[in-house]
Amino acid sequence: MDLTYSTKHQELQAEIRAFIEAEGHRSPKFGGGRNRPDQQALDWQGLLLERGYFARTVPTEYGGHGAEPDVLETAIIADEFSRAGISPGLLDVGNLIVVPSLLDLGSEAQCARWVRPTLTGETIWCIGNSEPGSGSDMANAQTKAVAVGDDFVINGQKIWTSGAHYADMMFLLCRTEAEAPKHKGLSYLLVPMDTDGIEVRPLVTMTERPEFNETFLTDVRVPMDQIVMGRGDGWKVAIASLKHERVMLGDPNKQLQRLHGIREMMRETVIDGVAVMDLPEYRDRLLRLQAEVLAAKFHNMRLLTLHDRGEEPGIPGLIQKLYGTTLNHKLSALAIDVLGEAGLPYEPHEFGENDPATAWQIDYMYDIGLIIGGGTSQIQKNIISERGLGMPREPKAVVPPARS
Ligand SMILES: Cc1cc2nc3c(=O)[nH]c(=O)nc-3n(C[C@H](O)[C@H](O)[C@H](O)COP(=O)(O)OP(=O)(O)OC[C@H]3O[C@@H](n4cnc5c(N)ncnc54)[C@H](O)[C@@H]3O)c2cc1C
Repeated sequence: MDLTYSTKHQELQAEIRAFIEAEGHRSPKFGGGRNRPDQQALDWQGLLLERGYFARTVPTEYGGHGAEPDVLETAIIADEFSRAGISPGLLDVGNLIVVPSLLDLGSEAQCARWVRPTLTGETIWCIGNSEPGSGSDMANAQTKAVAVGDDFVINGQKIWTSGAHYADMMFLLCRTEAEAPKHKGLSYLLVPMDTDGIEVRPLVTMTERPEFNETFLTDVRVPMDQIVMGRGDGWKVAIASLKHERVMLGDPNKQLQRLHGIREMMRETVIDGVAVMDLPEYRDRLLRLQAEVLAAKFHNMRLLTLHDRGEEPGIPGLIQKLYGTTLNHKLSALAIDVLGEAGLPYEPHEFGENDPATAWQIDYMYDIGLIIGGGTSQIQKNIISERGLGMPREPKAVVPPARS
């Protein structure tokens, strides 16, 4: 593809730079996003939507800007915001997974009902895929939804449900067709979290924060029209939503923003009169990571091009998840080392998630979780090697017959 900026692209870049110069002080801190957005984040989101810097290609009738897809426009907007350390808007699961999945596969009524409030941050979502017996093997979900009158009645348990303790809605994978084969018995339902019968029990991660939850569903009633696609189409929806999740988790703009932050920190941090930037072992590490981040950025252009052409991300999407989540962790590890002694204390209860005193430590620990969440690195490697490189399938374990 041609990466040269046309006059139109140069104008957009200048326009965003002027916007950041004038309004950037109103931005919440970049990053975070593991809490309900506060008023500052909601106001900033409103401004970005108004200017068309968020949800640029989402149809106007659903609250977006209605622009034609354009790889370079997307890249310019992301680049300018991450370079300035300014929030690009609400990068939550609602906006990055549910909205594109509904636009791809949801009914018109579902898009009309849920897209706009998700874009504005009024409606916050969580994803109910994993269960105690089905994580990597997601199609093994056992939570059941039985048709009773005009409703589905749901019973079961979800686990690792990020943000369920403050979400308004759950994008829930469940089994509606008890007799159908494993992959054909699944459906996705849109479930309000304030429905009777939902109990959320927080689970604390090693960041000492309740980032995700166990979610118990007992006789939870949801109207039948809250199904995405049809009964038994859940696996198609899972594949569509997972592709958005993988691309989101490996997003190189997060890495670019971190790289800029670390570079600044290395210039400003001085040890025995020498800036860390001038210490060869640190500079060498930074340069290696910079090369990796730039490779990730250009790989993402490939994904954006596929997206604009209406093609599936396929194996490149899995590569982004695998490579991006690992790279995020390497970047936060470098930041912790640059911080030196200041990188060791960790007082999560005293400081906020976006406080510089703990932000890198939180990222360093949470990044490990994101190497697992959305499909572990081992699973990505399996699929890339089998379907991308054509290597032989992994042998299945032979279960010995039960002893009589
Ligand atoms: C921070 C975080 C946030 C999360 N948020 C959510 C969320 O919001 N909603 C949600 O539904 N889920 C969420 N999850 C759950 C996540 O999707 C699962 O943890 C993940 O899919 C792995 O499933 P599991 O934990 O059951 O591990 P298992 O599937 O039991 O895997 C255990 C280990 O075995 C390996 N393994 C399994 N099968 C294979 C195989 N075929 N080949 C090679 N290795 C294999 C795995 O790689 C892993 O190392 C989150 C997880 C984390 C860590």
